[in-house]
Amino acid sequence: MRLSTNTLLAVLPVFVAAHADHHLHARAQQHARQVPAAAPPPPVASAAGSSSQANVVGTTSSQVAASQSSSPAVAGTSTLPAGSSAASVAGTTSSVSSAAVPSLTVQLQATNPTAVPLASIIPGQVSAATHPLPSTAVAGSVPTFLSNAPPLPTITGLLAANYPPPDRPAPTDSPEVQQWIKEVQDTGVVIPQFSPTNGIGGCANNTAAASDASRCWWTCGGCTRSTDITECPTAMDWGLTYDDGPAFYTPNLLEYLDQEQLKATFFVVGSRVFYNWNMLQSQYMGQHQIAVHTWSHFPLTSLTNEQIIAELGWSRKIIKDVLGVTPNMMRPPYGDIDDRVRAISLAMGLTPVMWTRISPLATFDTDDFNIANGQTSVQQVIQNWENIIGNATTRNSGFIVLEHDLFEQSVEVATGYILPDALGHKNPPFKIQPVIHCLNKDMTDAYIETNNNKTNPPAFQAAVSAGIVTVTGTAAGAKSTGKSAAVTSKSTAGSLWSLAGLALGGLMTLP
Ligand SMILES: [Zn+2]
Repeated sequence: MRLSTNTLLAVLPVFVAAHADHHLHARAQQHARQVPAAAPPPPVASAAGSSSQANVVGTTSSQVAASQSSSPAVAGTSTLPAGSSAASVAGTTSSVSSAAVPSLTVQLQATNPTAVPLASIIPGQVSAATHPLPSTAVAGSVPTFLSNAPPLPTITGLLAANYPPPDRPAPTDSPEVQQWIKEVQDTGVVIPQFSPTNGIGGCANNTAAASDASRCWWTCGGCTRSTDITECPTAMDWGLTYDDGPAFYTPNLLEYLDQEQLKATFFVVGSRVFYNWNMLQSQYMGQHQIAVHTWSHFPLTSLTNEQIIAELGWSRKIIKDVLGVTPNMMRPPYGDIDDRVRAISLAMGLTPVMWTRISPLATFDTDDFNIANGQTSVQQVIQNWENIIGNATTRNSGFIVLEHDLFEQSVEVATGYILPDALGHKNPPFKIQPVIHCLNKDMTDAYIETNNNKTNPPAFQAAVSAGIVTVTGTAAGAKSTGKSAAVTSKSTAGSLWSLAGLALGGLMTLP
């Protein structure tokens, strides 16, 4: 099915708002991307023909300077605006304006013969045709690849009246959210009483929270807990993930994945599932893993407990409405998670999945999202990717990379360059698979309704056993009369984000 003009116009405001959301947050958040595993070799002017990842072909003077620098922090760092708080975390950030687009300095193992030329993958590019969904899911069909899965729900359309407004934190006074709050309380989980962060300012404007190690705040320092999934256990295994869809160009990505017989994990935004529920059904029936990426894509640590419950609950619900199954994994937008968000997620049966992070300067984030808004170039994204696989191939365990299917540019760099390059990497090859499979688990383990809870114990029970969360009461999952006061705590910071949400939501009313 080709998206009609009317369809595009109908959903465009959502993507405008989403873009604004990310742009706003990109200025506030810090994401040090990638540096090479080791100091890069000296530039080789006549390196054409070599397949070494670090070869420099067609090097510009600025890149020679970068590659000759003794500081590995210079090469491969992402483009960030001046004043970004990244420097306070990463220590070094080379700020490159979008006008100074670097030439491609790496030689890929392979590219897609039908790839969109790099020169055309730019902000504001002329939109290419969206492809038809590779397969249209049939209502009522049974996902035979998933034991005990219910038939695909029969949907002809979703009613807006049944869901909160898109792309802003959902109200917390609805019967649904009130029920989910009660369910969280009934687990007996003790939610740490941290005040919500001021998400607008990132680490620089949250100095107290950023220095509070007890929060275990990933955003400012990369702290993780043992229940967070941050990598695949086996070397050369790549947990393939795409965030922020389903969106216009998701079918183009699905077509390529089908062609190469690859399966991925999609962390989907509930607001976008509302518009593109048929895509979600195709993804699911295509045996990709579906997981939660919140309702409106706000940074979760900036929200109140109730808002976090609403963000996760509505995304979980719309996926269940469309697929008949409930995911048991989530990825926090921007990786923004701390122990308060963890406790709530786990109490809602959702295991956090991050992307691999070796150091502040080596996160496995391609930064593909920022091509569309001009904050980085496709060449830089490919350089980031090459740095990622340079690091990945030296690890004793596998890895998870952050990529997106929201914008055309991200899909084009994935299908034209990143995935072909990975597939061309033969000795040894990468094993590319959904996160659930790289954990040596079955796809049935990825959904509440199909998980037999043997190889993949429920998230909350596992977290209690691991000592990551505590409960009031006698045992994990026990009904408890003790109510966590934090579930009903309010904060000024959370309200600020609510206002920001309203402002962003206002964009959706633009023509
Ligand atoms: Zn995201």
